[in-house]
Amino acid sequence: MNEMSKMADYVFVPEPTPTIPVAGTDKLFPVRRIYCVGRNFADHAIEMGHDPDKEPPFFFQKNPDSIVPPGQDFPYPTETSDVHHEIELVVALKSGGTDIPLDKALDCVFGYGVGLDMTRRDLQGQAKKMGRPWETGKSFEASAPCSVIHPVSEVGHPTQGAIRVEVNGEPRQQGDLNQMIWKVPEMIAYLSRLFELRPGDVIFAGTPAGVGAVVRGDVMTGHVEGVDEITVKVV
Ligand code: MN
Repeated sequence: MNEMSKMADYVFVPEPTPTIPVAGTDKLFPVRRIYCVGRNFADHAIEMGHDPDKEPPFFFQKNPDSIVPPGQDFPYPTETSDVHHEIELVVALKSGGTDIPLDKALDCVFGYGVGLDMTRRDLQGQAKKMGRPWETGKSFEASAPCSVIHPVSEVGHPTQGAIRVEVNGEPRQQGDLNQMIWKVPEMIAYLSRLFELRPGDVIFAGTPAGVGAVVRGDVMTGHVEGVDEITVKVV
């Protein structure tokens, strides 16, 4: 039996699995799903017109192939004139399950990165107004630029430290990881009650205040203290 005859009988060649490079190695982290937490910083919830005391954070998803690996540009998306940056801590899971208890949640984490939850704010705003889903605002092509993933053995489990983004060197968003309403274990435990988490799932952990628009030619530089920095050009 040759190699070909052992391969699955697909009707066409499947698309490759989206991946993120892992720091300090040639290995790749294979992305299965992308979960994003909304309004996980009180000051950002307020800037978006919401009361964080009355409306707890919540989740939405992006598509795994929306990841933009480090070093690649962000192509300005179609059908919008108001694309915003949201700088976020990225949590990369090596294991999962359902009903994960809080005190076991961090055991699921492979490592951390720095991501940008790019958002067509105009389309998201229309969707909110009309009670429609957010996919066109949030889940478009290349909407998830991400740094390399740093294993827990290198960076631990960051719980505090500056999270910020500059555009063309000008400060835009500025916050601290210690302001996150839901901490990483709470996000994992909560998500695992709604979904079965699996290896390769990543969580974009929410963004501080100061979101704003970018245009073609802008250079976004995002930092999460103790994790990494990413530089992404809008083209
Ligand atoms: Mn976000």
